[in-house]
Amino acid sequence: MSHWSLRGRWYIPATPQRLDPSFKSLVGLLFIQTTVTHSMSNSLPLARDIDGKAIAARVLEEVRTDVAGLASQGVLPALAVLLVGDDPASHVYVRNKLQRAEEVGIRSLEYRLPESTGQAELLQLIAELNTDPAVNGILVQLPLPAHIEEQAVIQAIDPIKDVDGFHRENVGGLVQGAEVLTPCTPSGCMRLLQETCGDLSGLHAVVIGRSNIVGKPMATLLLQAHCSVSVVHSRSVDAAALCRLADIVVAAVGRPQLIDASWLKPGAVVIDVGINRIETETGSRLVGDVDYASARTIAAAITPVPGGVGPMTIAYLLKNTVIATRLQRA
Ligand code: NAP
Repeated sequence: MSHWSLRGRWYIPATPQRLDPSFKSLVGLLFIQTTVTHSMSNSLPLARDIDGKAIAARVLEEVRTDVAGLASQGVLPALAVLLVGDDPASHVYVRNKLQRAEEVGIRSLEYRLPESTGQAELLQLIAELNTDPAVNGILVQLPLPAHIEEQAVIQAIDPIKDVDGFHRENVGGLVQGAEVLTPCTPSGCMRLLQETCGDLSGLHAVVIGRSNIVGKPMATLLLQAHCSVSVVHSRSVDAAALCRLADIVVAAVGRPQLIDASWLKPGAVVIDVGINRIETETGSRLVGDVDYASARTIAAAITPVPGGVGPMTIAYLLKNTVIATRLQRA
């Protein structure tokens, strides 16, 4: 695997997770060389794609190995997935999660409940799953129908079975650096960044978006990895100017193709969390929050949509199921 270094625009054809000092001086030479080359050609190569499918496949392989290890001790991790209502996208997400779980040997329990399900009924089911020793992870697919209060449901899940990492106890633990279940999408983004850049310490990361699901935990994880972190949101003054200072950009905005080349510093690494369906002349297609065609003319590396962050989210859900199983046995 190769790494892009963000402390200048250079390409490192090597695989170390941590750069040793002698390697850094070699890299310095490469930097001078490529800087000269770039100023002569006056154009940057297109960003390379960060292959989320390939990296997720490696994560799933790790999970498969972990599950086999637990099985040899007579433990079979089990994930309960609860889906309320008829949202077509949610049905696709749940189907994919269950399929991947089966592939890595995790037992899945599927609860598809009608739109009319009452909050009390849902909370009763969660209470039963909380006390069932055969269930290690509980995931309630969001969004829930409007008559059900999302927070009441999230907080009802036993934190040690909360594989989405949304319970307040896990959120607080994450901020304090405790070993807790951490939200899947940000965890997946961190893995993409670490496999792309190696050591992230000292880099400036800008997270666009401050949701509880993506933006805030993402910023916390980047801080733990010793980045300097800025969080940009809808009230930020000149978000693009702040973003242009970033070595790493994580876009979680929900606005199709908002971030183009004019938001990026040359050589930035871009993680596009967004999944937006847009209409085209021939139907519709999925795009991210980043204008991929524009951004790749200036970035060093970028996640495509689809095929970037999406597969990582499911892989880390299953990793979390294994972590939950271990925490419950500790
Ligand atoms: P969200 O809850 O709607 O949050 C969006 C955030 O973007 C908010 O913090 C908002 O700021 C900020 N924002 C909106 N317009 C902005 C602008 N013009 N400039 C700067 N910031 C702006 O969304 P989310 O749940 O975090 O999801 C974000 C995207 O990621 C969506 O496309 C979603 O589908 C996708 N997603 C993908 C995955 C995956 O597995 N790949 C998982 C989760 C989410 P305010 O706080 O000020 O309103």
